[in-house]
Amino acid sequence: MTYIPAEKLEQEAKELLDKLDFDKMKPRERMQIPMQEMPSQEPAVRAKNIEEVALGYYEEQVKIEAERCLQCKNAPCIKGCPVGINIPGFLKAAAEGDYQKSVDIIKESSMLPAICGRVCPQETQCMELCTVGKGLKDKDKSVAIGRVERFVADWERETGKMSLPEIAPATGKKVGIVGSGPAGLTAAADIRKAGHEVVLFEAFHKLGGVMVYGIPEFRLPKAILDKEVENLLSMGVKIEKNFLVGRTRKLSDLLEKDGYDALFIGTGAGLPNFMNIEGENLVGVFSANEFLTRANLMKAYTPDKADTPIYTGKKTAVIGGGNVAMDAARMALRVGAEEVYVIYRRTEKEMPARREEVVHAQEEGIHFNFLTNPKRVISDGKGHVAGIECLRYELGEPDDSGRRRPVAIEGSEFVLEMDSVIMALGNSSNPLISQTAKEISVNKWGNITVDEDGKTSMDRVYAGGDIVLGAATVILAMGEGRRAAESINKLLASE
Ligand SMILES: Cc1cc2nc3c(=O)[nH]c(=O)nc-3n(C[C@H](O)[C@H](O)[C@H](O)COP(=O)(O)OP(=O)(O)OC[C@H]3O[C@@H](n4cnc5c(N)ncnc54)[C@H](O)[C@@H]3O)c2cc1C
Ligand code: SF4
Repeated sequence: MTYIPAEKLEQEAKELLDKLDFDKMKPRERMQIPMQEMPSQEPAVRAKNIEEVALGYYEEQVKIEAERCLQCKNAPCIKGCPVGINIPGFLKAAAEGDYQKSVDIIKESSMLPAICGRVCPQETQCMELCTVGKGLKDKDKSVAIGRVERFVADWERETGKMSLPEIAPATGKKVGIVGSGPAGLTAAADIRKAGHEVVLFEAFHKLGGVMVYGIPEFRLPKAILDKEVENLLSMGVKIEKNFLVGRTRKLSDLLEKDGYDALFIGTGAGLPNFMNIEGENLVGVFSANEFLTRANLMKAYTPDKADTPIYTGKKTAVIGGGNVAMDAARMALRVGAEEVYVIYRRTEKEMPARREEVVHAQEEGIHFNFLTNPKRVISDGKGHVAGIECLRYELGEPDDSGRRRPVAIEGSEFVLEMDSVIMALGNSSNPLISQTAKEISVNKWGNITVDEDGKTSMDRVYAGGDIVLGAATVILAMGEGRRAAESINKLLASE
């Protein structure tokens, strides 16, 4: 993947479309159609603005990409999708130019297509199993399912044709949803559809969970999320913001005193992990969570409009190799750091971040130090960060995760001068709910345990998303919300 200007991609797609005759194509010829690259902002320009990096397909590109699908009878791609979207179905409708039908097919299984089309790790889900990618021996050349999904979802929103689901007659039952991330939003919509009163509790002042405070504007514009939330409000879901369940009200208060018939917990995994090394408490060391929340939710990237303090220093180190690390590094560049270094203890090949995000970060000028990990954060003597002492690593045998284990090379210490450090080492679940509701069982990582219906060990209480799975993905959290909603609807219908 190398940067190609958007106008060039559009021109190439137009010329190709004029040449191709899809009606007469055999599958072998269809597989030779080149995959359409995503147009994006020019790297040097986007590295200093907060607008979305990927610009979305041109209509000609959508046609070509959707026609790349072989319409396989067994559709292996569907097995790779956590919510089982009818992928060949929506691609066929998109290829025919019937975008409404295409988005309607997606919405039978997924409530947030404009979001999933942007942030789903498609290359490890649907695209991994796609026949085209398998035939070309490169999953990056599979049909770009998510990009077509994004196009039809955007088309629906931009043409103002977003449809609202039907709501069943009122049942007189009331359900509380705790947390407004993808799990909570999906559960709220599905339970509301069944005619129950739904109240959504959110600790923050804004709805959306990690999609609003974690994933940056340049990957997922907040206006898109706001539109989805608006739909939820139009369905009649009531919202209680700045409401911390466990503190403001306990689960037992909601059930026993406030008249709720059932609860769904979708509180996510928002507790940042640290390395527990010397110097981690110095001024200038942040968790990626705090850094991204200040930037996203409190709009620190608009110093003229929001005076949220944010400190990047001139040289920033981001520790970690996942999507969170990529987001923090790219955000640091956008809010003022002059040089940003990603420090990762394995090699590029083992990085858990999406390939596309790594390439985008590299294009924007982020430096990568592989096979390196901090040993301690060094102080300037006045309580501020002055650098990090690191160790070099080599790869040993594979560990439980299947990736080769990083092994520190003794005596390889060296110092990198830095004035800020962002720890992006993953998240754990916040213990507030389990500490204030002793009936709720959790596993050794503090994640709530549920049965196959999404039910917790507490009567009438269900859970799903990152609080159950540990840090996972938007689409998996949505799937969990949907499963629990189905169980809650069944429970309430039986009474
Ligand atoms: C920086 C970052 C980048 C990511 N990038 C991607 C990506 O590209 N693709 C992808 O698929 N996934 C990505 N993820 C993971 C994905 O965002 C999560 O898996 C998903 O959001 C989990 O959804 P959830 O509904 O379980 O919880 P969350 O999204 O975490 O939402 C939980 C909500 O509950 C609220 N809450 C917590 N406790 C309480 C309480 N006691 N009372 C009331 N409200 C409460 C929180 O404030 C929050 O709003 C990323 C995560 C991060 C942190
Ligand atoms: S596997 Fe690929 S080619 Fe086959 S139906 Fe799915 S998207 Fe189309």
